[in-house]
Amino acid sequence: MFAKIAIEKKPLSASLLGVCRLCRGILEFENHAFCYACSDALPWLHHPCSHCAMPLDLPALSSVCGTCQKSPPLYNRCIAALCYEPPVNDLIAHIKTHVHAPETHQLGRQLAMICEATYNKTWPDMIIPVPLHWTRTLQRGFNQSDNLAHYIQMSFPKIEIRGDLCKRLKKAPTQHSQSRRRRFSSIENAFTCSTPVSGRRIAIVDDGVTTGATATALTRALLNAGAANVDVWCIARTDWHNTQQ
Ligand SMILES: [Zn+2]
Ligand SMILES: [Zn+2]
Repeated sequence: MFAKIAIEKKPLSASLLGVCRLCRGILEFENHAFCYACSDALPWLHHPCSHCAMPLDLPALSSVCGTCQKSPPLYNRCIAALCYEPPVNDLIAHIKTHVHAPETHQLGRQLAMICEATYNKTWPDMIIPVPLHWTRTLQRGFNQSDNLAHYIQMSFPKIEIRGDLCKRLKKAPTQHSQSRRRRFSSIENAFTCSTPVSGRRIAIVDDGVTTGATATALTRALLNAGAANVDVWCIARTDWHNTQQ
């Protein structure tokens, strides 16, 4: 009996044992992180602002939030799959720390399905994963946005991934250490784009969007390099205030 309890207390590796990371039930697919029932229970973003993807308070009179009505973002639109709240924060933490996290595959494919349902004719023709600063890449060993972009692109093989075009010159400041306004100004010129992207429609891919400061800074670099427009594809979207706890 003692041995059995000791085994049950050991942390399980869902990817190896085929166990759902959220409910510990058996997975339907080996390369998934969570089961269908847990997927249904996730906080999917059902009523996002059509510009910035922030959840709209219902009943909404407009598909555009008050912030975007006053000052629309530099990017064309943000498409997000989930609200950034438990257990999504844990799933994204796993994506950032495990190069082969099954969450990357499962959430990437689900985000691709949402993109598929969103666009009609005019699709982006290039995907750019948000680059990490080189010191962060060295520390982490991989860029989670590269992995995510790879799984999204499996659904759209005609759209090329160009992870080589942009560089991050500044490290991201800690979200909690700065006000929203200071975060935008401190990251303003954080990215550079080495090659002209004249007339290209671009989707930048990130795991999460909070203030939108990173997405805005990369959008600015791409527009300066000639991009026709820039969309943002991310797993989770959150209100800035939700990170101030
Ligand atoms: Zn489950
Ligand atoms: Zn908005």
